[in-house]
Amino acid sequence: MMQNQDVLQKITQVLATSNFKKSNQLINYQTINKLEKTLNLNKQNPQCWDEIFTWVEQYLEYSPNTSHPNFANRMWSGANQPSIVGEIVTALSNTSNCTFESAPVATLMERYMIKQMLDIVGFKNGEGQMTTGSSNANMIAMMVARNQALRKVKKQGLFNQKYLFAFVNEDAHYSLDKASNILGIGTNHLIKVSTLEDGSINTILLNEKIKQIKQQGGLVFFVCATLGTTVRGAYDNIEALTMLKKQHNFWLHGDGAWGGVAIMSLKLKKKFLTSIESLDSFTMDFHKMLGSNLMCNFLLLNHKHLLSCTCADGDGSYIFRDNEADLGIASLQCGRRVDSLKWFLDWKFYTRKGFSDRVENYYQLAKFAEDFINASVDLEMVLKRTSFNVCFRFKSSHSNKNNFNQCLRDSLYQGQQALLALAYVEKKLVFRLLISNINMNKVKLVSLLNRLVKRGRTLNNV
Ligand SMILES: *Cc1c(COP(=O)(O)O)cnc(C)c1O
Repeated sequence: MMQNQDVLQKITQVLATSNFKKSNQLINYQTINKLEKTLNLNKQNPQCWDEIFTWVEQYLEYSPNTSHPNFANRMWSGANQPSIVGEIVTALSNTSNCTFESAPVATLMERYMIKQMLDIVGFKNGEGQMTTGSSNANMIAMMVARNQALRKVKKQGLFNQKYLFAFVNEDAHYSLDKASNILGIGTNHLIKVSTLEDGSINTILLNEKIKQIKQQGGLVFFVCATLGTTVRGAYDNIEALTMLKKQHNFWLHGDGAWGGVAIMSLKLKKKFLTSIESLDSFTMDFHKMLGSNLMCNFLLLNHKHLLSCTCADGDGSYIFRDNEADLGIASLQCGRRVDSLKWFLDWKFYTRKGFSDRVENYYQLAKFAEDFINASVDLEMVLKRTSFNVCFRFKSSHSNKNNFNQCLRDSLYQGQQALLALAYVEKKLVFRLLISNINMNKVKLVSLLNRLVKRGRTLNNV
């Protein structure tokens, strides 16, 4: 039997020699069938460390190197080094951040970090918690709003109650649809409002729709401002929404999963998040642009005691010992993974200033990419950039441009050159460039775009 010490040594050794560490390789592309054969998942040989490490090596070999500058597939890439240290320690110490007793340091770190974020966002008398991502944070915010709008709902459910309605930008994240489903609101009761030219929610139209629903006897309980839409990067106008909130008395939540990080920079906060302190709740991912290991998210409420009165339920007396300190009480989970250690370490290492610089740099790089695309004879912007998202495509001479851009993307992927993201914008298939890699710079960005152009030209001529 290997001792803990030996296992650690072996892992270090495997990591040091794996292809994964050769930073020039993006991916070893395999078809799903071929990879399944290679992995031989049915093999069983109990207690055999050699086989365990063979799978570890294969895992590393065939996973994309997400730190590579040509990994531009998702809203995150790579991970901060202090955060990686935190994750290793979290795995080794393996505990649950639900009670102070089982996770004393993690509890204090989470509390400390939530306080930091409340101060930055400007929620003066608020509370918050780490959740498993913005999808769940959006749902919890909607749940708090639901239970505030219908005070009996926690015990009686939605039976014999007024019909609830929520409103979002038509480009809002799909987690809001899921939340409406899970919470019994019904996805038909999540009303999607079309956008203005810049991709932000049309607040005049929103006001009309709210009035209509109210006239029909519906209860408008929740509006979600998307602060950086997933595809276009548009920010809903918080000030205009706050005016409507005063008039109609709904819960105003801010989904800043992607674009909420503008809060780190005073300049970008002013540009995109004016009046953020008037929201009722706000969520943001630290695992996207800010680079903490997945998952790293928080939800803040601009109110006190609502998390526990909404989420706490049932008999937890066998587990909870301290109503003040035990973070699990106000959580929807029982076991809570420790996400606060990596978060705290990143925060201390980079500081707000470091994250502010990072976000401003990404913003400048997005602008640089837009200028490059506008100057290129082969590429075209499909939408004017509004923030961090650059939506563009190859100007092919083929009649089916969507198909062409899909082929171009697949060809770059299978050729192990780049892993890019695609999205539909008004039925046009576009490349969605989202810069979230700390190692990205103008030179690497030009090299990535030139690679795309070169491959596109070749494909266009066949
Ligand atoms: C990524 C994203 C989400 C989902 O966040 P997860 O942390 O992956 O659950 C929600 N809303 C927006 C706007 C996003 O971009």
